[in-house]
Formats: sequence, structure tokens, C-alpha cells
Amino acid sequence: MAGKFFFIDTTRCTACRGCQIACKQYKKHDASKTKQYGTYQNPPDLDGNTFRLVRFSEHPAKVNSMAWYFFTEACRHCLKPACKKKADQIMKDAIIVHDKLGTVLFTKKTKELEKSFKAIKQACPWSIPTWSKKEKQMVKCNMCYDRVEAGLLPACVKACPSGALNFGDEAEMKKLATDHLAAAKKKFGGKGELLDFEDVRALYLITDEQSKYRPVA
Ligand code: SF4
Ligand code: SF4
Ligand code: SF4
Repeated sequence: MAGKFFFIDTTRCTACRGCQIACKQYKKHDASKTKQYGTYQNPPDLDGNTFRLVRFSEHPAKVNSMAWYFFTEACRHCLKPACKKKADQIMKDAIIVHDKLGTVLFTKKTKELEKSFKAIKQACPWSIPTWSKKEKQMVKCNMCYDRVEAGLLPACVKACPSGALNFGDEAEMKKLATDHLAAAKKKFGGKGELLDFEDVRALYLITDEQSKYRPVA
């Protein structure tokens, strides 16, 4: 399989949003117009200017009155991407492609799929694709492939101060993920899982029910 992988240890995330801002800064994205709607999560969802978003959600806890759940969300760079499958069904052309790093890339040809955008977004299990009004095409995280090809880390990973976001070769990331899973299980009374381990290039470690990490925005 080879290629590059992310490993995200949510137990280490402090929700500083350094990753979210570093992505915005590197991509030279404008701020998204937003408003306070009762949560620290802002903007409300991924958009044409926001390829990585730190999700915040609160739930009742036994020890303290509330528990925070933080989840830095971006494209998982699936090994068999449903977005690409849908695009291929709609138009027989290389609209969404896999590059040599394993990155799932939305090409400029996605401009031709504006009418089918909704169907492609719905095909993604995490509703990641967004439509950029500025670029008039589908957009999302591209794994900072230009930085990675130059031997650098993705901007979001480089900015993470806590070790929550990691990036590297498959064997290294899968070992790190399984080591962190074992440590998390010891610390959190046997709780812990790696989400979609065989299917994606963004391996998330969580220690509670998955639904608690992704509030409806
Ligand atoms: S996470 Fe969604 S947008 Fe990203 S590659 Fe997978 S199906 Fe496509
Ligand atoms: S890899 Fe690059 S494009 Fe993707 S979320 Fe991180 S900074 Fe943004
Ligand atoms: S930079 Fe790291 S610690 Fe900060 S929100 Fe992103 S993943 Fe969490």
C-alpha cells in the first residue's frame, strides 16, 4: 500500500486550534464569516476556507459535571474513497485522483461537477467535500502534498504542540497508533479504539463512543 498516513491521538488534543489556523495560513484562506451559536466550535463546519476544523462537544460526566471531547476533522484520504467512486460514476474522467503519496486529490475538473456536488458530498461517510464559491470547484484537505514532496510535514501537523497530530510512513504511523492505543487502554480502564484502521490514511484514536466526538454543527 505504502504512501503516507496521519495518526491522530484525540487523548492528547487540547483544542488549541493550532492545526486549524496553520492550515488556513498555509493555504492563504480568508476568514469564514460566522457567528457565536453556543459552542466553541467555529466556524460551524468545514467550508471553502476551512479544510481542517477542531470539533468541540460537551457531554455530562460522572466525575466533573461536563466532559469536553475534541476532534480535529479533515479528509481521511480513504484507501477506497467513496467520493471518487461517485465522481467516476457521474463522469468517466480523472476528476478525483489518488497521487503517489496516497493522497485523494480533487482536481480542477471538479468544476464540471457543480450540479453533482451534493451527491458526492453525501457519498463521503463524513461529509467532507465542500464547494468553494471563490475557486468554483470542490475542495478539501490535499495532505499538503507540496510540502510532503519537499520533505516537510503538513502544516497542521507541524503546528500541533501536543503530539496529537502525527504524520509519516504507513508502518511508523500504524506502530505509533497501536502503541498509543495500548497506553490509552491502560489509562482509561480498557477504553480505546482506532477508527477505520484498515480503510483510511487518517487513523484516529478515541476513548469513548464515536458519536460523542462529532456534534451536529
Ligand atoms: S474522507 Fe470523504 S472526501 Fe476524503 S477521501 Fe474519504 S470519501 Fe473522499
Ligand atoms: S494536511 Fe495540509 S491541507 Fe490538509 S488539513 Fe493539514 S494543513 Fe490543511
Ligand atoms: S494543534 Fe494539536 S492539540 Fe491543537 S487542536 Fe490541533 S490536534 Fe489538537
